[in-house]
Amino acid sequence: MESPAVTFTLAYVVLSVCFVFPPHEFRAAGLTVQGLLGAWLGSEDAAFVQHHLRRSTGTLLAHALLPLGYYIGMCFAAPEKQLCYFYLAPEGWKIFFFLAVIFPTITSILAYYWSRNGWDNHPLARTLAVHALPQSSWRAVASSINTEFRRIDKFATGAPGARVIVTDTWVIKVTTYCLHVAQQQDIHLTVTDSRQHELSPDSNVPVQFLTINVASINPYVKAFDIRLNSTEYGELREKLRAPIRNAANVVIHQSLSDLFLETFTSLVEMNQTYPAPSNQELEPCIGCMQTNANIKLIKSCQEPNEGECQQCYCRPMWCLTCMGKWFASRQDQQHPETWLSSQVPCPTCRAKFCILDVCIIR
Ligand SMILES: [Zn+2]
Ligand SMILES: [Zn+2]
Ligand SMILES: [Zn+2]
Repeated sequence: MESPAVTFTLAYVVLSVCFVFPPHEFRAAGLTVQGLLGAWLGSEDAAFVQHHLRRSTGTLLAHALLPLGYYIGMCFAAPEKQLCYFYLAPEGWKIFFFLAVIFPTITSILAYYWSRNGWDNHPLARTLAVHALPQSSWRAVASSINTEFRRIDKFATGAPGARVIVTDTWVIKVTTYCLHVAQQQDIHLTVTDSRQHELSPDSNVPVQFLTINVASINPYVKAFDIRLNSTEYGELREKLRAPIRNAANVVIHQSLSDLFLETFTSLVEMNQTYPAPSNQELEPCIGCMQTNANIKLIKSCQEPNEGECQQCYCRPMWCLTCMGKWFASRQDQQHPETWLSSQVPCPTCRAKFCILDVCIIR
């Protein structure tokens, strides 16, 4: 039997997690700190720094109220515990209530302190003060960031909890509670990791995520990591003045076709191979002239007279890479989820083939 208390607890936990890490549906419905406090936060475009001073403070306050919300909800979900009459409540709940009240109280005092003197005490103001010129203040830095954020040529990417913004002078990472700010001229960037998500028939788009470490020569600026899709890498590099070092030695796939090529190669390597013809030498690939042709198309996906694929009778003329590029080039760029399952005409005789029919000559 599920009691109302258990049901409420589960629902509250799920809703709290969705509030702290809003999924797309919550953001669309405006059930986020930004959505709820929109008017007070002001627009990000009008005053980027002021918006985030308020947003980070508001977020902290809103999150600090979650335990108290749970207690109040439990007053109704579990009336037998008599939580509404504090002195009758079980010992454990008294402690919970105490903490649930203390937590937002401390946060409110902190928020009040931060907001004094036009936010002078806020941690973000201190973050920015590090970059201020002598005899100038964090406000000058803030107005530079505000101005540059408004420009349309800035680079911006990332999920709401880890946005990355690169302007002419600044590299900024926006997280739920804070902002990391580094000055372009001070930084060293290093690719430290890459994660690849394979293109499979049930996922949508192949993606490679890069983690780039941003370290500043300014000792007061703590290093931070930014994450982005490899297809955005070129755009990021254009916006940055410093070169990006590749410590992870990862091959960065800057286009969907690049990413696809890797998947294509690994799948073809699992197919049956074709024995190298003994009577003739393999010719150079007519696509690149760099390597010998090493691909033969043999219909292997279905029985000879079934399905859409046809047998190709061409002699080997293409290398694996060129065949992969050809395959990718014939695909619908808007629907990468169809790429693996599609048929493509042979570049020479136009007989249709699929990935299963591509055989490496050994
Ligand atoms: Zn080739
Ligand atoms: Zn052919
Ligand atoms: Zn086939």
